[in-house]
Amino acid sequence: MKQFAVIGLGRFGSSVAKTLSKMGYDVLGIDIDEEMVNSMAEDLTYTVKADTLDEQTLKSLGIRNFDVVVVAIGREIQASILVTVMLKEMGVKKVVAKAQTEIHGKVLERVGADKVVFPERDMGERIAKALVSKNILDQIVLSPEYSLVEMAVPPGFINKTLEKSGARQKYGISILAIRRGSDVIISPNASNIMLEGDILVVIGRNDKLGKFETIDI
Ligand code: ADP
Repeated sequence: MKQFAVIGLGRFGSSVAKTLSKMGYDVLGIDIDEEMVNSMAEDLTYTVKADTLDEQTLKSLGIRNFDVVVVAIGREIQASILVTVMLKEMGVKKVVAKAQTEIHGKVLERVGADKVVFPERDMGERIAKALVSKNILDQIVLSPEYSLVEMAVPPGFINKTLEKSGARQKYGISILAIRRGSDVIISPNASNIMLEGDILVVIGRNDKLGKFETIDI
């Protein structure tokens, strides 16, 4: 079972830590601010009040034994960079760091962060896309050209079979699953009928997904 440590229990860090903990993982939460630590004490396996800029403190927490360490120190850009450097020098296998800006992200990558995340930027993009699209509810960008999306059934396809929708032949996209209430139909076949209220999980090229999603015959 993987063990996680989250440094910085602000909005982002606490959300990551709580979600991992709810999924059953052991999570150590660290923050310099006692109030933050106390507010998370019941939700996480371990919580510690510590200044992670102090190398000795980091070592004494046995941080290098964790499989993944998330650096969720947000506004203190300098601290987030220094802590990332120290973690990699100590031999932590996977360091995931939160960046505030593009340049901050570049520096984090340079100093060895294994993954850099931009939660505000990414969430902003997702929300903007969801606002302008009628049916797309969520999107995972796989590459600049391809995405996996969750969408409401385009009105023109309600009560039609997957085959009739031309998803595969006409649009070259694949419907991987249909969510119907609390049921999920995995790998639906050509004769499955889409009903009003269904949510489709679809993979394909962005331009084709856009065309499919706006069909309204
Ligand atoms: P968010 O936008 O996710 O809320 P914040 O910058 O507000 O991000 O929160 C980052 C958290 O990191 C704060 O709770 C802060 O106390 C903590 N933090 C800042 N510096 C350190 C440090 N050197 N060691 C441990 N925690 C720190």
